[in-house]
Amino acid sequence: MPAAQKYDVVCPHCKKSFRGELIGSDESRQGFKCPHCRLFVPLERAEVEKGA
Ligand SMILES: [Zn+2]
Repeated sequence: MPAAQKYDVVCPHCKKSFRGELIGSDESRQGFKCPHCRLFVPLERAEVEKGA
């Protein structure tokens, strides 16, 4: 099993960047939890760069 994919994300709520794991099993509801403002960031609204 590969490790969970991590992404560099810019939160649309607080505009801060963080590295997070994609969460959510349903493809249309995937996203990240921002560690700064604790809001959910849907994948489609996040500015993501695939990290290693
Ligand atoms: Zn945020």
